[in-house]
Amino acid sequence: TEFITVGELASLMNVNPTEVISVCFSLGVMVTMNQRLEADTLLLVADEFGYKIEFQDADLEEELEETEDAAEDLEPRAPIVTVMGHVDHGKTSLLDYIRKTNVIAGESGGITQHIGAYNVKLEKGQRITFLDTPGHEAFTAMRARGAQITDIVIIVIAADDDVMPQTKEAIAHAQAAGVPMIIALNKVDKPTANPDKIREQLSAMNVLVEEWGGNVQSQEISAKFGNNVDQLLEKVLLQAEMLELKANPDRDAVGTVIEASLDKGRGYVTTLLVQNGTLRVGDYLLAGKNHGKVKAMLDERGKNLKEAGPSIPVTILGLDGAPTAGDKFRVFGEESEAKAIAVKRGQLQRELSIRTKKHTTLEELGRRI
Ligand code: GDP
Ligand code: MG
Repeated sequence: TEFITVGELASLMNVNPTEVISVCFSLGVMVTMNQRLEADTLLLVADEFGYKIEFQDADLEEELEETEDAAEDLEPRAPIVTVMGHVDHGKTSLLDYIRKTNVIAGESGGITQHIGAYNVKLEKGQRITFLDTPGHEAFTAMRARGAQITDIVIIVIAADDDVMPQTKEAIAHAQAAGVPMIIALNKVDKPTANPDKIREQLSAMNVLVEEWGGNVQSQEISAKFGNNVDQLLEKVLLQAEMLELKANPDRDAVGTVIEASLDKGRGYVTTLLVQNGTLRVGDYLLAGKNHGKVKAMLDERGKNLKEAGPSIPVTILGLDGAPTAGDKFRVFGEESEAKAIAVKRGQLQRELSIRTKKHTTLEELGRRI
């Protein structure tokens, strides 16, 4: 790819074009006034004059702009819930209990694959999607990448322990993100459990649960034995109702990458969360700097799906690489479109690494002179 000409660069930096030509010459690049410069030369020359060049792709950003959905196209969608809390306070036990009692309902056999997200169907038919991130590092990483995907956070606190540093951090994250939280006071089956002490510690940090006159929902549970977990889920649904979560199932899918890996037999395996629209087998997908045609789509039981609507997590096969957790994905009408942008993103990334490399070279060059 070639960018602006020697003359254009000179006028941008407010120097004489002959100066640019002579710098190019000293770098071993013979150029004329109207010659376009390649990325690495451009970076080097600009650097010589004390300028930094940032590559932008205006067309790309325009192309990726979100289209607003008309209000009449919106339909209710399931809440997306993340479980957070201190280590050993019972996050995995809670997620496992919910998965066991709800996911398999009415289905026999199926081996549950551990994927980073799953959707459960409750008795009355309502659905909740759980993000099963390993600790809250993944959640934090996704937030750092600007991927705001959680609607509700369940903060699990062991009632036989205290509000621990990691719990405080989780609460702070939820508050900073403006995501409503529900407190699960866990392990109340233990004789040493003292949920009142936890409520008090929470109030001391300005988190007032409903029982204490505040507006944060909470529920005493035993994740190990499943006590009151259904009440907790009722509260999740109540919170979701208040949020009026909606999406338009009738459009090309967009969403976020949850995790991706390379599988020996199947190639790149990517877990996606559809946030708007409907994803279908055969769709052309762009995810971060990767692309591909959705060859197969599976739920967490490994069951083949043909399509997945809003709030549904799926594992797909068919991408040409592993995108990063938190990358956005979207569907394109033409494979060439998805590919063009993926290639361009790959290129920009390479140019960035060239820039870093060339900087070192330039310093070495300077030392030699
Ligand atoms: P995580 O680190 O937050 O994922 O915590 P785990 O779910 O792995 O639980 C840590 C330990 O606490 C395990 O030994 C669980 O069996 C135990 N545990 C979790 N929930 C309960 C509970 O409600 N009651 C009791 N008695 N033990 C629990
Ligand atoms: Mg765990």
